[in-house]
Amino acid sequence: MVKICCIGAGYVGGPSMAVMALKCPDIEVAVVDVSRSRIDAWNSDRLPVLEPGLDAVVRACRGRNLTFSADVERHVGDADMVFVSVNTPTKARGVGAGEAADLAYWESAARVVADAPRRSDKVVIVVEKSTVPVKTAEAMERILLARSNGGVAFQVLSNPEFFAEGTAVRDLLHPDRVLIGGREDTGAGRDAVLALRDVYARWVPGDRIVTASLPSAELARLAANAFLAQRVSSVNSLSALCEATGADVSDVARAVGSDPRVGDGFLRAGVGFGGASLRRDVLTLAYACERHGLAEPAAYWREVVAVNEFQKSRFVRRVVASMFGTVAGKTVAVLGFAFKKGAAAAAAGDANRESPAADVCRGLVGDRARVAVYDPVVSEKQIRRDTSPAAPAKATQRQAVRVARDAYDAALGAHGLCVLTDWDEFRTLDYRRIFDGMQKPAFVFDGRHVVDVGKLREIGFVVYSVGKPLDPWLKSMPAVA
Ligand code: NAD
Repeated sequence: MVKICCIGAGYVGGPSMAVMALKCPDIEVAVVDVSRSRIDAWNSDRLPVLEPGLDAVVRACRGRNLTFSADVERHVGDADMVFVSVNTPTKARGVGAGEAADLAYWESAARVVADAPRRSDKVVIVVEKSTVPVKTAEAMERILLARSNGGVAFQVLSNPEFFAEGTAVRDLLHPDRVLIGGREDTGAGRDAVLALRDVYARWVPGDRIVTASLPSAELARLAANAFLAQRVSSVNSLSALCEATGADVSDVARAVGSDPRVGDGFLRAGVGFGGASLRRDVLTLAYACERHGLAEPAAYWREVVAVNEFQKSRFVRRVVASMFGTVAGKTVAVLGFAFKKGAAAAAAGDANRESPAADVCRGLVGDRARVAVYDPVVSEKQIRRDTSPAAPAKATQRQAVRVARDAYDAALGAHGLCVLTDWDEFRTLDYRRIFDGMQKPAFVFDGRHVVDVGKLREIGFVVYSVGKPLDPWLKSMPAVA
């Protein structure tokens, strides 16, 4: 094999192909996209995705065996292996709106693969890299079969991407597993799986490259995210009970997670999960269950998302309840807007995907608070976009959000302060200085277990930390407004 093409120069396509080009200098890798501005950015010094180590990888191969191009048809037609890494958001309208995956981009890519001009005796391996509903590969096969001209033979594989935003390059260089789904029960299917395995084998140990059937690989990708989301919702549901009973959620999580059968990952209570894919993948899974007549499993997975929504609104209601039942006309400082600290660097160049901070800000503004937001990375434009109310007429609500230059600026004159991203710099702030500049009583609501609760209480703050024992002030106030 000599030529690989990837359709979609996005968050997955760009970094994953750059690492592939780095590790396979004898393979020509072309990343193509319908968005010319995306391609221009990949060809510039300011890449559209900010991930630690990505600049160096791109610089090492761009112009050598890595190309970014808007000439989609030509590169797709030339390739021996075509990765499809286009966006698959949740459907915004129509049948399945709010739950089903929108496969419009994916389908248009499938048609480009089918129609691209190429030699008629070619065998093309099409690799589904986007996260898709189960059995999408079969639909891809049908499109390719229906439109394939002459002798071109297509083999479809599923090779879902598991990297986490913020550690994409590290995860791509040293993946826990590479999953390849294919039709290993046929000779051509087996050859295709082997061809892709050979590419990864250049840098991934053999025992980490695992194969499965097409639907298993597709379902595994959705299930991996659903399990992560489910763990967060599990610990968050306990955090509410901890506050009601005086237990400490960190102690509970530590005791639970030290059982090796459970493991300690993703057991940190907080203000809820965000990001582009957790919510979407759980809902895609629930929708699939529903469509197959599995109402109870569908309800089970939907509840994972419902608990996440509950956790965000519970946080807002705790803030309002603690501050005498209203935040109208009060200023609340919000420290952190990124949905997680590692990914925020990436978020600067992209959408800050579904951050819980956006929901908390909207909730506070909805109760007529003024909000002063500081995040070290997320841009003012992004903060404004994510906090703006849906209705165009709400000018006063728009004015309710101020983007501060640092944490001290955000907190100056504020009645309360919420910590919504676990940025390290929030651990070492001069909280005495912040206290002196705030209205009294001064409240801190820690949604990420960042602050030293004891120290802040000594300074004089009323402190709420998700799932931790409440201080006397909070005990005397209702839990929710
Ligand atoms: P993205 O929105 O960053 O990029 C997708 C790109 O595809 C866009 O630049 C778009 O212009 C391009 N595109 C769409 N249709 C096209 C077409 N027909 N021809 C050419 N280009 C086209 O999306 P992403 O974050 O890279 O995600 C891609 C897939 O990978 C999604 O299914 C996503 O769920 C999955 N995934 C994402 C992550 C992540 O962390 N972002 C991790 C694992 C898997």
